[in-house]
Amino acid sequence: MLERQYWPCPFCEEGQIEVVIRPRTVCAKRTALRGGKKISFHKVREEIVILSEKCNVCGKTAEQIEKKWKKEGVL
Ligand SMILES: [Zn+2]
Repeated sequence: MLERQYWPCPFCEEGQIEVVIRPRTVCAKRTALRGGKKISFHKVREEIVILSEKCNVCGKTAEQIEKKWKKEGVL
């Protein structure tokens, strides 16, 4: 199931960048420990796809925005 969101542009913070978040499968790992069971979730990073071609306020392209988000650790 795809989740559509609007994120503020990382450059001007005024533009609305349309993104789609594709969650990857979350693996539940069952670890049997002495004295009890522990379930730890190994969360796989979700995939974010930028739908907007560019920021409609400052005109930065999706490519530039993606690069910036990656640099900032958002993606
Ligand atoms: Zn912008």
